[in-house]
Amino acid sequence: MSAPRRTPRRRPVTVVAALATAVALTGTLTAARAAPAPASGSGQPPREPVATGYGGAVASVSPDATQTGLDVLKHGGNAVDAAVATAAALGVVEPYSAGIGGGGFFVYYNARTHKVSTIDGRESGPAAMTTNWFIDPATGKPLSFTDAVNSGLSVGVPGTLKTWTTALDDWGTISLKKALQGGIDIASNGFVVDPTFNSFTAMNQARFSQIAPTAQLFLPNGAAPPVGSVFKNPDLANTYKLLAEEGPGLFYGGELGQEVANTSQHPPTIPNPTMNFRPGQLTAADIAGYTAPVQAPTHVDYKGLDVYSIAPPSSGGTTVGEALNILSNFDVDPGDQVQALHLYDEASKIAFADRNRWVGDANFNDVPTEQLTSKVYGKDRACLISPTSTLAAPVAPGNPFAPGGGTQCPSTAPTGTSYADTEGLSTTHLVTADKWGDVVSYTLTIEQTGGSAMTVPGRGFLLNNEMTDFDFTPLFPGVPDPNLPAAFKRPRSAMSPTIVLKDGRPFIAVGSPGGATIITTVLQILVNRLDLGMNLEQAIAAPRASQRNAASTFAEPAFLNLPEIPGLEALGEKFTLVPPSGTPTPEIGAATGLEFLPNGAVEAAAEPARRGGGAAAVVHPVR
Ligand code: GLU
Repeated sequence: MSAPRRTPRRRPVTVVAALATAVALTGTLTAARAAPAPASGSGQPPREPVATGYGGAVASVSPDATQTGLDVLKHGGNAVDAAVATAAALGVVEPYSAGIGGGGFFVYYNARTHKVSTIDGRESGPAAMTTNWFIDPATGKPLSFTDAVNSGLSVGVPGTLKTWTTALDDWGTISLKKALQGGIDIASNGFVVDPTFNSFTAMNQARFSQIAPTAQLFLPNGAAPPVGSVFKNPDLANTYKLLAEEGPGLFYGGELGQEVANTSQHPPTIPNPTMNFRPGQLTAADIAGYTAPVQAPTHVDYKGLDVYSIAPPSSGGTTVGEALNILSNFDVDPGDQVQALHLYDEASKIAFADRNRWVGDANFNDVPTEQLTSKVYGKDRACLISPTSTLAAPVAPGNPFAPGGGTQCPSTAPTGTSYADTEGLSTTHLVTADKWGDVVSYTLTIEQTGGSAMTVPGRGFLLNNEMTDFDFTPLFPGVPDPNLPAAFKRPRSAMSPTIVLKDGRPFIAVGSPGGATIITTVLQILVNRLDLGMNLEQAIAAPRASQRNAASTFAEPAFLNLPEIPGLEALGEKFTLVPPSGTPTPEIGAATGLEFLPNGAVEAAAEPARRGGGAAAVVHPVR
């Protein structure tokens, strides 16, 4: 236990809520009592899910990270500076979701030029990567997902640090050193373990205990740090300090990159591990050659609004965009919630059929980004939807290269090939805005919660397992799969950091974690906000369902209790409770967002409950 890092601002309600969640998590009051409460005077920043005001805003899943971004804004930094600082803090307090061992996608609205730009900070495959990367040479069969995740094979070249330096160099005003300072302070002084951090550690105990530096750091007494204890990461503080002094060359072309490569090639297991961590072939040269290109966003016009998101290698922008284009052919009427939810599910189902068939790294495939986000293609695909029945899933993909999108209507199209994504609660999304009107929407990840489980020895951060986002074998027999592994290729993502403009000015920024459910979460929040009359706070809090071209739609418990469920079932829709993912209640996503209000104020919003609730803050709050 150590002294807290911030001036006292703790509100008793936070502790009560934390203990209540701890009870729910452990199922016993005894366990909750056993968890020591934060030391008196410990200065946790507030965990408010909504804040409205002026002068700039931040929302993330973590009060510490949000406070870090807010501090940067208060000291004159812009939205990009605040985003990088918030992300660096998330690398400390959310080390299982994000950090310099991972990658992500950054979307930026520049208030001076009124342009939206993006950075592709996705991990890339090693030079040695081949199509058979995840085929076990001993059996000729694909590795199990678990075996692949827990291996050096799953580690791609991390893109997060390059994303930060690209963003700061191109659009920021502060140095990397300044941007990392908040993270350094938290890592040095510690943060209070909340139920989410505790449960995510416990969930990973079996594999973390196999990797010596991971067990040493995250299982300090052989177990997850208890709720309410203070967790420090001096190794990460030192790593950030070194990067602050020496710059990103330490990682991309330097000693730290070499250590990342060594860790992937020689997984630092305990003696006689009971799990087989296969070695990878990531090299220091792979890391030295990495770039995080600035690239154009995807764009669709939805009912007069300009929706910008991420182009391939993410499928986020094309899939959310296609679904919106499909929906724009219908009247999504808040007065008929059954029909509105039916349209949302069906549009998502069709867009996922196309996503799975067509989207991968555009440097390796002819990805029809323009066509998938076109109004014409959306209209072609919309003809499959009936207001009185549900499409049999999996729906076949269309052909965006063919006239009419290759869609046969009425819906006599053959059914497609089933495809199951592995979903988790990993990854994290943050949004920032500044007093000049710049906006950032940034999703970052190390893929699974806890990534590859491999901590770089002595450096305090986990390596990603992003390469497992590739398809291990071709998905569609006889049809090219755009998402097979290859040297230097980036695996398809679902991350969908989004910025919506109205009359050319920021209106909404939103994003979420959740694997492929990221797409449906962002889509559902947009539909809730833009079509169903909810404000942003309600749109984020509302119960979620995720239809990804499967026979049944995954849904949260609260969604299954909606009064609309019988009506949806009467149309032929089927629902399944979403599988548990380490939190007390099965849940989908953990969104954050911003809305720019007509009076010039900004509303920052985070989850009120999912993942224990997020933290929103503004520079000058108004009541
Ligand atoms: N690796 C996933 C993607 O890029 C994100 C992981 C998650 O959110 O669970 O789509």
